[in-house]
Amino acid sequence: MTALSLLGKPVADRLLADLTGRAQAFLARHGRPPALAVIRIGDDPDAAVYTRSLQRACRHAGIRSDDVQLSAATDERTAVATIRRLGADAAVDAIMIQTPLPQGLRRAALTDAIPPVKDVDGLSGENTGLLAQGRPRHVPATARALVLLAEASGITVAGARAVVVGRSDVVGLPAALMLLQANATVTVCHRATADLAAETRRAELLVVAVGRPGLITADMVAPGAVVLDAGTTVTADGLRGDVDAPAVAAVAAALTPVPGGVGPVTTAVLLQQVVAAAEERAEGAGRDG
Ligand code: NAP
Repeated sequence: MTALSLLGKPVADRLLADLTGRAQAFLARHGRPPALAVIRIGDDPDAAVYTRSLQRACRHAGIRSDDVQLSAATDERTAVATIRRLGADAAVDAIMIQTPLPQGLRRAALTDAIPPVKDVDGLSGENTGLLAQGRPRHVPATARALVLLAEASGITVAGARAVVVGRSDVVGLPAALMLLQANATVTVCHRATADLAAETRRAELLVVAVGRPGLITADMVAPGAVVLDAGTTVTADGLRGDVDAPAVAAVAAALTPVPGGVGPVTTAVLLQQVVAAAEERAEGAGRDG
């Protein structure tokens, strides 16, 4: 068997067609495009590259994006004040904070300073709580991307045995919650999981979000499983996922490539949430990604 390569582009293109139309309609109704502020603190080169690619995607979609750069020496009080100022700015619909943050800045203190309606990364306490309660507003984009890719894979998520490796609040945990809400039977694995391979081998849907290239080998995957790889690690050989792709492709039914799988869908989900934030603020529309 050679796994179907589950590309992100077709899923992302459907989302982009919808959100671009909505961004144009928003511009026509309000005389300005939806607007995203991207806050970068310090000069992490990967964050700079990611911000530029996000800004390109925003331009294509008809979304204004502002790169708000603060120096690495910024203290938490100043960072929070900047975020609150953007939060109160009527011309800013959405705010996201790039990571990694310089030492001494607590991510939760910064994300909780974003008004929840503008928190398009879905990481504030309020948006995390709403997701946990099954009434999501903005959600972490990668987690939503994973669910959309699971649906696009042809698997019936409801009733499927899903195993999520990784439990961060950015990817693993929200993905597990969303799969649970889609009626999958979900197991969540982490560093203290006693026998990772025994857990992953039971999965009909295997979601991996760890950041360790090659962690998932072919003997850890059930024949015919759908495997979604959210891992992205920059190596000397380029960007690598968490799955040993050539070997796992011989066993799985479908596998997301890295790059080209989860990443493009994540970006499209994020932009969709920017447009939804603009609509909700301006019109109380409450539409979401
Ligand atoms: P993270 O905060 O470092 O979390 C990693 C998770 O993996 C933790 O829950 C950790 O367990 C678990 N883990 C680590 N080693 C393990 C092992 N040997 N066995 C089982 N579980 C293990 O990372 P993250 O922010 O979730 O990101 C995960 C990956 O996704 C990274 O490669 C990141 O670059 C990527 N990512 C991709 C996108 C995208 O758009 N494609 C977006 C965001 C992140 P503990 O909780 O026990 O420590």
